[in-house]
Amino acid sequence: MDMRIQPGDITRAQVDAVVNAANSSLMGGGGVDGAIHRRGGPSILEACRELRNSSLPDGLPTGRAVATTAGELPATWVIHTVGPVYSISEDRTELLVSCYRESLRAAVDVGATTVAFPAISAGIYGWPLEDATRVAVETVQEMIDEVGERITEVLFVPFDEAAENAYRRHIAGC
Ligand code: ADP
Repeated sequence: MDMRIQPGDITRAQVDAVVNAANSSLMGGGGVDGAIHRRGGPSILEACRELRNSSLPDGLPTGRAVATTAGELPATWVIHTVGPVYSISEDRTELLVSCYRESLRAAVDVGATTVAFPAISAGIYGWPLEDATRVAVETVQEMIDEVGERITEVLFVPFDEAAENAYRRHIAGC
């Protein structure tokens, strides 16, 4: 499994599955979530509504992941995952780890072989970038044994230079 950094807008990523840093309502939001719904069009929200009306009446719990269509995006699937809101009083790292694990498992379940991740929780949810990107890289690396035969490529998609530099430091340390 290749791990690469591909700076830019994740909605343009040419991969099978794009991971969305969603909120538990699955009804859209700001940041990367807003961008995915805007560019992907209404079929993504429709699929999310169906999930809310069937298997996820209370929304998607933090740390879990679920796949929908990617609508008009170049990708085939969007994998929605809910990152933890950063807290200084409580260590929520395991929930962030779970987002990466569950997203990769969801990707395998739908048959995706290439996956792009934004820096989950590092925007509106306030997770310090350095730590958020470290958890991302380490967790994907730790999943190679489990999903490495199915997932051939993981892209980390930094949206600005600070995120790009952070990913580079952690990938170099792998
Ligand atoms: P969260 O609520 O999980 O913090 P955000 O969407 O606010 O999610 O931010 C997560 C990360 O995604 C941030 O580093 C932000 O800069 C980045 N981001 C925002 N829009 C995009 C985009 N279109 N492509 C890739 N990354 C993005």
